[in-house]
Amino acid sequence: MSFLTIEHLEKSFGPNRVVKDFNLTIEKGEFISLLGPSGCGKTTVLRMVAGFETPTSGAIHIDGKDVVRLRPNQRSIGMVFQAYALFPNLTVAQNVGFGLKVNGTARQEIQSRVEEMLSLIGLPDLGARYPFQLSGGQQQRVALARALAPRPQVLLLDEPLSALDAKIRVSLREEIRAIQQKLGITTIFVTHDQEEALSISDRIVVMHQGIADQVGTPFEIYNNPATRFVAGFVGTLNLMEAKVIDAEKGVTTIGGAPVILGRPLPKGKATLAARPETIRLGRAPGKDTVLAGKITGVNFLGSVIRLRADVGGQVIDFDTFNAPGVPPPTPGTEVELSLSARDLLVI
Ligand code: ADP
Ligand code: MG
Repeated sequence: MSFLTIEHLEKSFGPNRVVKDFNLTIEKGEFISLLGPSGCGKTTVLRMVAGFETPTSGAIHIDGKDVVRLRPNQRSIGMVFQAYALFPNLTVAQNVGFGLKVNGTARQEIQSRVEEMLSLIGLPDLGARYPFQLSGGQQQRVALARALAPRPQVLLLDEPLSALDAKIRVSLREEIRAIQQKLGITTIFVTHDQEEALSISDRIVVMHQGIADQVGTPFEIYNNPATRFVAGFVGTLNLMEAKVIDAEKGVTTIGGAPVILGRPLPKGKATLAARPETIRLGRAPGKDTVLAGKITGVNFLGSVIRLRADVGGQVIDFDTFNAPGVPPPTPGTEVELSLSARDLLVI
């Protein structure tokens, strides 16, 4: 049996079914992200694992034990919330030691454990401060230390970075991942930010209206999206309506240009999809399909320039790397785009 298993989990609030037949198995030490738009049921799943919410039906096992009827403090979980949920009237050290004090740990033990936790999160000298004297990022690190101090078996994080500035968000997510790996703690991380989920997870569960649409590694989720929703939610995708000329051989056209897919297609019409980074400006080695288009948008993002072109009436977004000596094309420029038929997804 996997370390943490969730089977046929359901939750309704009145007539509103917000989690539907949710199934997931997590191995010991895995880092799993629940990814999905606001309101899709991520927090509700997490709160049921934590014990703050009772499932309408379904089973949750942690380390072989049925936990559904156990109180949160009997489940060996640590939780970090989005908003800084530190106790404002307690020092950093008292916050970190709170769970240990509640479970009756001896004072000496608490002190050494708090010191260990503060150095783990890189704030060894801030034990005497109060939460209001810390930055947002520091407060979330303390919240993490507080969650980890009682040595839980499972760490649950509910959008812990969403209130922070972009730069701190990126550095703190890397730190969370490093700490998680160092401790080998089984972790469920909730986020609505696809880049965040892609960058730090062993596996991602993409949720949509209470349902787990797809479970997979970041590589699988991004490159082989199982549903149209996953394809559109994770990353940017160009959807192109294609006229199928030969369904068996996979011959079709995009914006009037022939495309030989070499894989069977549905008869009549098909929707093809391409990631912007698989499309090149101009002809490029290994790109077997060339489309003619006109630039309609230029978005300078720094290292990358996101271009938009009209290809026979289809809008196609694609990326080109910044090259300081070469200004990007301007709107109205006629261009060629190239792509590899192998990279096209059939949706
Ligand atoms: P997410 O974390 O993905 O944004 P939530 O799990 O918080 O989503 O919410 C999922 C749905 O359940 C939402 O429509 C929300 O309004 C509803 N919901 C959550 N908690 C409650 C509650 N205690 N009572 C009634 N409805 C709730
Ligand atoms: Mg939520």
